Amino acid sequence: MKTEEWINTVEYKELNFARKSLVINPAKACQPLGAFFCASGFEGTLPYEHGSQGCAAYFRNNLSRHYREPFPAVSDSMTEDAAVFGGRANMIEGLKNAHDIYKPKMIAMCTSCMSEVIGDDLKAFISNSRDAGSIPKDFPVAYAHTPSFIGSHLAGYDNMLNGIIECLSEGRFKDGGRNGKINIIPGFDPHVENIRELRRYMSMMGVDCTVLADNSESFDSPLTGEYQMYKGRTTLDEAGDCVNAQATISMQAYASAKTLKTLKTAYGQTTESFRYPLGISAFDRFLVKVSEITGKPVPKGIKWERGIAVDAATDAHQYFHGKRFAVFGDPDVMLGLAGFIMEMGGEPAHIVCTNGTTKWGKEMQALLASSPFGAGARVYPGKDLWHMRSLLMTEPVDMLIGDSHGKYAARDAGIPQVRIGFPIVDRVNLHRYATLGYRGAINLITWIANAFIEETDRKSDDAHFELLR
Ligand code: SF4
Repeated sequence: MKTEEWINTVEYKELNFARKSLVINPAKACQPLGAFFCASGFEGTLPYEHGSQGCAAYFRNNLSRHYREPFPAVSDSMTEDAAVFGGRANMIEGLKNAHDIYKPKMIAMCTSCMSEVIGDDLKAFISNSRDAGSIPKDFPVAYAHTPSFIGSHLAGYDNMLNGIIECLSEGRFKDGGRNGKINIIPGFDPHVENIRELRRYMSMMGVDCTVLADNSESFDSPLTGEYQMYKGRTTLDEAGDCVNAQATISMQAYASAKTLKTLKTAYGQTTESFRYPLGISAFDRFLVKVSEITGKPVPKGIKWERGIAVDAATDAHQYFHGKRFAVFGDPDVMLGLAGFIMEMGGEPAHIVCTNGTTKWGKEMQALLASSPFGAGARVYPGKDLWHMRSLLMTEPVDMLIGDSHGKYAARDAGIPQVRIGFPIVDRVNLHRYATLGYRGAINLITWIANAFIEETDRKSDDAHFELLR
């Protein structure tokens, strides 16, 4: 048997799942990429990587390709001499250059593997840089250690958000005094429109909120012919005051665990976390929770939008019913997607989550057990896209959902793929569409149902190429 046929067999799948010391095409990115992503959501903030230049180039490149926007960020370009002597000298010079040339209001510093392996101490080096006159004594430099040999872009996002809050809130906590606002943490959400939708819903409810790390304009802003380097929408003042909020709600529990813990334990806030609440019922629960916390009712306008989404779901449920799905991506996104698919009458079959932990696996199993449509699903925490390929070839499904890296496995399996996740580098403008909220639910329903219908048309012979679908 030829190798290209053998890798599609059950025998090969068992060998593939037995591998221990090799990862092939993992569905995750580096910690500092998540830190860059987070930092870009704050006013006048320059993401800075203390480490090697190639890492920063990769993060800029990945973010630029997904959003098709320039992504400004710097590194202090550690090379062989820094690997031997440490990166202190690089940081002293790098901070001065970054501050003087790019004139940010804040620098948000993370690390790459190189500086972490050496053991560079960011806090001490930043202090050394202030003493050396690289930056003014009171210039804010938030920092987070982000070693990529543990964690992923989600840990990087969380670490950087926590670091920025700690930096900016110093001396601002009014013990017991609340500012009457709630904080919203979007998480590592590649759809900028989701942040705008969250702001719109809060505005419709009359809820005063601080969206932390609002990078919606950094990744999507008008083409005017004039380059604007800093477009983070969360002001430094708001971010510093976020410790005085009444509560914090995260849209992605697994991307914000550390920050939520800080806000709860150090600042006494009520914290709530969701698992990327895709679909109608999950978003209902989010709005109900906001209403409970703030005392503001859900207005008629939102209920009207919900009704439209229910109608869209009813119109399209026949295209989902009984269809088997394979999905891969981040832990929160997988929980959100699985819930949405089951809500529409589809059946999640393979759920691959490279970032998934045992705890996540149990949470997913409980979600699947809550619906008859989850009965046939298998959950694969820690597995990669080469595992996914074996699953698609030996236990076929009707559709793959995940980022662009899934396209090869989808093509080999002869099934359509709907792109959700990061990065999406082979389709345009998807980040400009919401996936959250009732409009987001309509988008998801539309993309998936129409992909099935297009597949039916594409495979139909002349006798079955129907006008009506
Ligand atoms: S794994 Fe480490 S060295 Fe490699 S790109 Fe990511 S941060 Fe850089």
